Amino acid sequence: MTQTCNRCGKDKPLEQFNRQTSRPSGRKTICQDCTRKQGLDYYKLHRKRIIKRAIKWCRDNPDRAKENSRVSKLKRKAERERERQQQQAEATQ
Ligand SMILES: [Zn+2]
Repeated sequence: MTQTCNRCGKDKPLEQFNRQTSRPSGRKTICQDCTRKQGLDYYKLHRKRIIKRAIKWCRDNPDRAKENSRVSKLKRKAERERERQQQQAEATQ
């Protein structure tokens, strides 16, 4: 089963389209690659507004912002640790 992407016009397997339950096909009309690009384009276009909103959100929700940054810090730390272990494992092979 394939579906044509509305953005790049390529035929791609259904798995490459994100799920969207509100649509009869159950899939989005643009592929994951294009969805990612669209997100990036949107960010580039509205960067200032997005950052401003994020800062405002942090001010309005200091507790949740603190918790979020704590969690993402831990995630980054765990990721670095995993990479380090991987590199060590490769070096000893
Ligand atoms: Zn596409």
